Amino acid sequence: MIIILFGPPGAGKGTQAQRLEKSRGLVQLSTGVMLRAAVAAQTHYGKKAKGKMDAGQLVSDDIVIGIIADRIKADDCKNGFILDGFPRNVAQAEALDVMLAEEGVKLDAVVQMEVDDAALVDRVSGRYTCANKKCNEGYHDTNLKPAVDGVCDNCGGTEFERRPDDNAETVAKRLDEYYAQTAPVLPYYAEQGILQQVDGMAAVNEVAAQIDAVLAA
Ligand code: AMP
Repeated sequence: MIIILFGPPGAGKGTQAQRLEKSRGLVQLSTGVMLRAAVAAQTHYGKKAKGKMDAGQLVSDDIVIGIIADRIKADDCKNGFILDGFPRNVAQAEALDVMLAEEGVKLDAVVQMEVDDAALVDRVSGRYTCANKKCNEGYHDTNLKPAVDGVCDNCGGTEFERRPDDNAETVAKRLDEYYAQTAPVLPYYAEQGILQQVDGMAAVNEVAAQIDAVLAA
């Protein structure tokens, strides 16, 4: 099964993609995660992408299309995958169709996570994760604190980190980019008859149930 989770920053795409990974044996392909790894490793692409990411702007299509085109050929994608953060404009959506056709597979569903804009800046600027790379459990300053202050519920780690672009100013820019460049992809998938909506403002488990219902339909 090949699914796109679609929505603005803070819609909960990453959280739901991780759940689908576990429940369905799919692989989460997050261009944001891959780009942050490239930045941390100071690769050629990472160096090119960093400035745009820090500014809350989209990285060039060549880079992200190249990353995804390589990644979907890997063996672990043969059971299917969840695209999280890709495509982010119509050119990327068209390139995705071409690469899927080359692999002889097709998209099963595009799940749009509908959210209330006003909540997004707070959701994103308050989020942080366990710094233990094997854990990476997600938290939020007000909505989702660890049971014991400063200690990860999942692994007991005491180091946490925040993404550099998860500050209020950059989140506002990322939202502008979403509405200018990414939201126009929705009609592209609506025309193909594969676009479905879920309520991204519901509790995590409820959103998960809605996604399961959409995928079962
Ligand atoms: P995300 O983790 O999905 O919020 O992505 C973080 C940042 O990585 C974005 O603000 C962009 O700068 C960049 N990025 C991630 N995915 C893409 C994409 N498909 N196209 C262009 N830039 C992207």
